[in-house]
Amino acid sequence: MSNGWLLTYQGYEPDKEGLRETLCTLGNGYFCSRGAAPDSMADGVHYPGTYLAGGYNRLTTDLHDRKIENEDLVNLPNWLVLLLKIEDGDWLGPDRVDILDYRQELDLARGLLMRSFRFRDDEGRVTRWQERRFVSMADQHLAGLEVNILPENWSGSLLIRSAIDGTVINHGVKRYQELHSRHLETIGTGHSEKDVIWLTSRTVQSLMEITEAVRTRVYQGDREVDPKRQTGSLTDYVYQDLQMDVVAGHELRVEKIAALYSSKDNAISEPGIAARTKIAETESFQFLADCHSMVWRHLWEDFDLRLEVVDSDDDQLKLRLHVFHLLQTVSFHSIDRDVGVPPRGWHGEAYRAHIMWDELFIFPFLNLRRPVLTRALLLYRYRRLPEARRLAREAGYRGAMFPWQSGSSGREESQVIHLNPASGRWVPDNSHRQRHIASAVAYNIWQYYQVTNDREFLYSYGAELLVEIARFWASIATWNSERDRYDIRGVMGPDEFHTAYPEADPAREGGLDNNAYTNILAAWVLNRAADALAILPPDRAFALREKLGVEREEIAAWGTIGRRLFVPFHDEDIISQFEGYEKLEEFDWDGYRRKYGDIQRLDRILEKEGDTPNRYKASKQADVLMLFYLFSASELQQLFEQLGYRFKRETIPKNIDYYLQRTSHGSTLSWVVHSWVLARANRRGSWKLFQGAIDSDIADIQGGTTAEGIHLGAMAGTVDLIQRCYTGIETKGGTLHFNPRLPKSLNCLSARIRYRHQELELYIDQDILRVSSRTQLAAFPITIAYRGQFREVSPGSSFEFHLVPTEEPEWGEDDQNSVKQGPGNDQRQ
Ligand code: BGC
Repeated sequence: MSNGWLLTYQGYEPDKEGLRETLCTLGNGYFCSRGAAPDSMADGVHYPGTYLAGGYNRLTTDLHDRKIENEDLVNLPNWLVLLLKIEDGDWLGPDRVDILDYRQELDLARGLLMRSFRFRDDEGRVTRWQERRFVSMADQHLAGLEVNILPENWSGSLLIRSAIDGTVINHGVKRYQELHSRHLETIGTGHSEKDVIWLTSRTVQSLMEITEAVRTRVYQGDREVDPKRQTGSLTDYVYQDLQMDVVAGHELRVEKIAALYSSKDNAISEPGIAARTKIAETESFQFLADCHSMVWRHLWEDFDLRLEVVDSDDDQLKLRLHVFHLLQTVSFHSIDRDVGVPPRGWHGEAYRAHIMWDELFIFPFLNLRRPVLTRALLLYRYRRLPEARRLAREAGYRGAMFPWQSGSSGREESQVIHLNPASGRWVPDNSHRQRHIASAVAYNIWQYYQVTNDREFLYSYGAELLVEIARFWASIATWNSERDRYDIRGVMGPDEFHTAYPEADPAREGGLDNNAYTNILAAWVLNRAADALAILPPDRAFALREKLGVEREEIAAWGTIGRRLFVPFHDEDIISQFEGYEKLEEFDWDGYRRKYGDIQRLDRILEKEGDTPNRYKASKQADVLMLFYLFSASELQQLFEQLGYRFKRETIPKNIDYYLQRTSHGSTLSWVVHSWVLARANRRGSWKLFQGAIDSDIADIQGGTTAEGIHLGAMAGTVDLIQRCYTGIETKGGTLHFNPRLPKSLNCLSARIRYRHQELELYIDQDILRVSSRTQLAAFPITIAYRGQFREVSPGSSFEFHLVPTEEPEWGEDDQNSVKQGPGNDQRQ
C-alpha cells in the first residue's frame, strides 16, 4: 500500500489471485471486468469475469427432485484475452513461466490497473510485460488494454493472439457449481477492417444480445507495425493471431480496445451495429485513457474524503478504494439503466448480483454527494411496484411487499434451498421472510427527500411507494386482543441466523413473531406515509389517494396500528430481538471458538453438527441494534413513546452491550453497524470495529468471500461512518445538523458534500467545525445547526463553530477502556 491513491501488490501469489481480481476490478456503472490476467482463463486460480449492470438470465436445475430456478448476473465473453507464443513454443501464461519479478498497482486517482512483470520461459528467454488497462468512465461502452512487451535476451518470432472468449460460464462461486451455469449462446462471430474481430452472444432465457468488438494494433514507438494477421474462430471463440519478428531490447506495444453493447442499451439499433461502428471510429489507447482519467479526476473532486489518522496512512487508501468501487458499480452511466445497487458490486457472482437491502448502507453517502444517483436507483424500486403489489396480493396482503432479493423483474429471487459448504447439504432457505426490506425502501425514500427536498420526486414516485409500503404493514399486522396490541408474525429480522423457533420445522413453519426491528420500522413507515400525503399539495394528494383508493379511514388506521404495534422486552429494558428470544439458550462462544477458531458463520458450523442457531442467543449481525444505527436517540425515544413504551435513552448502551456480546459478525455489515452504534458512547471501541469494517475486503476478513465480489454495503458504510456518523450529520426538519465527535485517532477530516442545492466544504478536527459554501450561483439559503446554534448559510458564506468538549457521552457511560468485546467478537483483536 502507498500514498493514499495506489493499491500495490508486490509478487505473484496464486492463492490471492481471486481476491486481487475482485479488488482490481475496473468498471464504470455500465459494465465491469475483473482484474484477471489477460493470458488466464477460469482454472481455480484465475477467474476472468465481465458483467453488464443488470445483465441477468434465469436457468432451471433439477436438484434433489426439485426444479430450482435461479436468476444470475451473467458472466459475459472475456474481451481481455491476449496470449503470447515465442517461436514454436506453447502459449505462455502466468502459471507456465518462471516469474522473476511482479508488481500490480491499482491507480485510484486515474482509474487504471497496471501489472508489470518479467518472466523466463522453458528456453531461458526473458521477457518483460508491462500492462495498463481501463474500463472507460468517459465512454461507458469502451475499455482498453495496453501491453508493452520487451524481449530482454532473445530475438525471434513472436505470435500474439487477441481473442474474445465466449466459452465462459458462471463458475465464480463454488457453492453454486451444482447449478446450471451456461447462460450464453454465441449467435455470430466475424471480423471487419483488418484489425477488428467481434462476437455476438445471447442469453438463453432473457434473450439479451451482447456484442463485443475488439481492435488490436501493434506499435514500435509511435510507428504502427504491420504484423501478419490471421483471423479465425472456434466454437464460441474468435481470435486474431498477429505474427512478427522481434529483436532483443526493442519494445513492442500492443493496444487492444474493446467496445461492448447490449440489446438493453438506449439509443441503438442493435448491439452488433453499435459495437462495430464504435470500434471503427475509436481513438488510441492513450487518448481514451486520458479522457477516462479526466472523468475520474472530476469524480474525485466531488467524492473524495480526506483524513488524517494518527499512526496510519492506510485508512485513507482503504476509504478511497471503497469510494472507487462504489462509483464503478453506480455512476452517472447507471442513471438511465433501470438497475439497482447489488451488494457485491458487478464484480463477481455472489448473491447473483441480486438487489437486497444493502442500499440502506449505500444511499446515505450518495445522498450527500450526488443525490441524482440515489434518485435513479430508487426508481429501480418504483418500476417494480407492480411486482411488489403482486407479491403482497399472493401472500394475502395489501400494498407492496418488496422481495428480499430482486433481479430483472422484481419478483422474489431468494433461493428456496442453499448449499451449506461446511456440511455439503442443501438446506431450506427462509431468508425471503425478511419483510423488513420494504421499510428499507421507505427509509431510503425519506432520507433522499430530507437531503434534497426533491418534492417532484415525492409527488411522482416517493409518496406512492410510501403509501403502498404502509399499506402492506397495516395489512400484515394482526390484532391480538389478549394483549391489546398488533402483532407481525412469521417474519425474519436482519439477523439471518434466526429463521424459525427452535421447535418449529423451518421448512414449513418458518419465521418469528414480533421482530422488534421490523415492528418499530413498520410504525415509523406508517407515520411517514401519512406525512408524505400531508406534504403533497392537496390536489396531488387527492389524485394519489383516488388512484390508490386510500380512504381517510385507512390513514386513520395507520395511526392506530402505528401506536399499538407490539415490541417485546426482557430483563426489564433489553429490547428482545423477537418474541420469545429470552427463552433461547446462551451460546458457548468460548468453547466454539476454541474448537473452530473462526466462527463468523456459526450457522454453517451448527448445521453441520446437526444443530441450529435457532436454539441460541447468537446472531449473525445487528438486528435490534439496527435501530440505533438508523435513528438518533431522540427519534427512538419518540417512537417508543408513540408506541406507549417507556424507553430510557440511558438503556441504549445496555442494549448495545447485550447484543454485541451475542453476535458473530457473520456479515460484513455487522462491523459497520456496531462501529456506528458505539460511536457516541465508546469512541475507542467504535474505532476498533471501524478498523474491522474497512478491512472487510482488502484483508478478506471472511476468508475467501471477496473473490466472489466486493462487499459494497461495508464499503459505502465505512465511508458514511466517517462522513455522517463521526461528524454527527443528521438531515431532518429542513436543517443540516452537525455534532462532530471524532475518534481520538482521527485528527481531522475534510469533505465536500451537497445539501439542498448547495455545495459545502467541511473541515472538522477535534476542536473546530468549519462549513463553507462553495456555491456561487443563486440558491436558497440553507440552515445548518451545531448543538442548538442555528446558522443560515447563503451561497458563498462560511461558518466556524468551536466544538464543545463533550465529557459526557451522548448515551450512557463513555467507556474508554474497552470495547466490551463479546465472546463472538474477538477475532479482530
Ligand atoms: C447479510 C445480509 C446482506 C447480504 C448481502 C448477508 O450475509 O446477512 O444482510 O444483505 O449478505 O450483503
